[in-house]
Amino acid sequence: MKIKVSEIPEEGIDVDEKTPVTLNERETQASVRFHIDKSGPQVLVRGTVEAAMRLTCGRCLKEFVKDISMPVDLAYNPVEEMEEEHGAIGKKELDMGFYKADEIDTGVIASEQLLLNVPIKVLCSEACRGICPRCGSDLNVEGCVCPPADMTSPSKFDELKKYFEGNKNKNGSGNRIN
Ligand SMILES: [Zn+2]
Ligand SMILES: [Zn+2]
Repeated sequence: MKIKVSEIPEEGIDVDEKTPVTLNERETQASVRFHIDKSGPQVLVRGTVEAAMRLTCGRCLKEFVKDISMPVDLAYNPVEEMEEEHGAIGKKELDMGFYKADEIDTGVIASEQLLLNVPIKVLCSEACRGICPRCGSDLNVEGCVCPPADMTSPSKFDELKKYFEGNKNKNGSGNRIN
């Protein structure tokens, strides 16, 4: 929803809307509940954004959908004013939001906040058992026949090591040329 900043009344306005947002290249619906206030030229946005986000489990690599609810407490300044005062936007001001041409867009704010706060390491469940490092079976769905004792050591590397050590002995000082 686009809002004209100059038309925000003294007491502020409440926004309660569903807006499409694109997250991880997929479109989803976000529920936006904002209270928008003005303080001089600054626009204050407070409330929550909620969306069902499609995430990838860091342990078993399965995709799953999780409802994310995010508190929002942001200040937006008119970008025109910043440019006038400083000539360019300084480093410090980059932490603040800006609005342009007397307009803020709650849908854009919602998707920005969701994108900025996408959890990087997520698990489909705390109890996720992940994937067997040896055979690649999803241990949530099926057990595997790998001996549990070997699960902790990277067995492939052990095999390689043995292979190379074996070769070293073959080509070592015991071999004579001629
Ligand atoms: Zn998982
Ligand atoms: Zn296995």
